[in-house]
Amino acid sequence: MTVELQHIRAARERIAGKVERTPTVPSQSLSDHAGHPVHLKLEHHQTTGAFKLRGASNAIAALSAEEKSRGVVAASTGNHGRALAHAAKLEGIRAVICMSRLVPENKLDAIRRLGADVRIVGNSQDDAQQEVDRLVAEEGLVMLPPFDHPDIIAGQGTLGLEIMEQVPDAAEVLVPLSGGGLAAGVAAAVKGVSPSTKVIGISMARGAAMKASLDAGHPVQVEELPTLADSLGGGIGLDNRLTFAMCRGLLDDVILLSEGEIAAGIRHAYELEREIVEGAGAVGMGALLAGKVKVSGPTVLILSGRNIDMSLHRRIVCGEAITERAA
Ligand SMILES: *Cc1c(COP(=O)(O)O)cnc(C)c1O
Repeated sequence: MTVELQHIRAARERIAGKVERTPTVPSQSLSDHAGHPVHLKLEHHQTTGAFKLRGASNAIAALSAEEKSRGVVAASTGNHGRALAHAAKLEGIRAVICMSRLVPENKLDAIRRLGADVRIVGNSQDDAQQEVDRLVAEEGLVMLPPFDHPDIIAGQGTLGLEIMEQVPDAAEVLVPLSGGGLAAGVAAAVKGVSPSTKVIGISMARGAAMKASLDAGHPVQVEELPTLADSLGGGIGLDNRLTFAMCRGLLDDVILLSEGEIAAGIRHAYELEREIVEGAGAVGMGALLAGKVKVSGPTVLILSGRNIDMSLHRRIVCGEAITERAA
């Protein structure tokens, strides 16, 4: 099973009017730096502050009336939970979001305010997932996972369709990478429209589960560590069904960034582009600034989210030493 252009086009029809079509703008500072036109896909301005609303809206819209009546449940590092809570509220259905203690407080509050039932369990996404499994078995809720689900991947892929309409000559697209729902969906859309366009995944070096799995040739578990790119935390699931194979088949490269390189991306977004982005949303900028990607032509960076704790953001842009935080 895989997700293809036709599924992504169907997702776009289904979520029309429920999500924003976000703008793509040129970046003078990064174009000068890269020697090629660099464009920023401003997806952090999406409703709920991250692209996750695309997948969540598509997956909820695809449920049957009977499934909607049971309600939905998911484990989340924050943004998927918020998106699911928002989409569920619009449909008038119940949502339960299970999270680990690593999820920042600002993200918890936002989800609670949307009326979802929030459960905090354990110290990792895997712990949170155990509670999800229990709720599915005991209360009959429908699980809508954050990335490894065809309707979630197809929804995230709608971002790739927009990119290819906004920058039809894109040579490279830089995508933040965690569980790979975004990267798989975007790569399927981008390569479906323009097979020669390269799609490059970017993760933090601290706990990059997809990169470790691609290197091993099968899904592996890595230790989850605190990182400035908290939305990129978590494993890909040892029983991964879709995103591992899709990322292996579709991504041209995967790049890892240090905490200092991620902080530099957040700072650059703020100082030069006047944009507030969270760590996960800043990895494209961080990778370009660090010289870790060689671009060959017009390049698009996805600014995937903005849900950063603002006191942390202040400390980063003030240049306070947030480099390699101790484990
Ligand atoms: C979830 C998320 C990602 C990573 O998406 P995956 O589909 O898990 O790879 C990147 N950026 C932000 C802001 C996110 O919330």
